[in-house]
Amino acid sequence: MVKRKKTRESKIMVGIRCQCQDRAVERAGSQLRQVMCKECGKIFKTNRATYFCFNCEKKKKN
Ligand SMILES: [Zn+2]
Repeated sequence: MVKRKKTRESKIMVGIRCQCQDRAVERAGSQLRQVMCKECGKIFKTNRATYFCFNCEKKKKN
């Protein structure tokens, strides 16, 4: 799977400046994948490589 984290930020900048270079359509949802949290079973969407929802990820770090 291709990671596009770096391009995401630059696209936002470009979108503000010029419409013809705005790739917001491609951005919408294309990076998000649906994941079921292995901790609580909640289904969420993320563009990161994680198996835990935001809540459970916080708990694990603390
Ligand atoms: Zn969870």
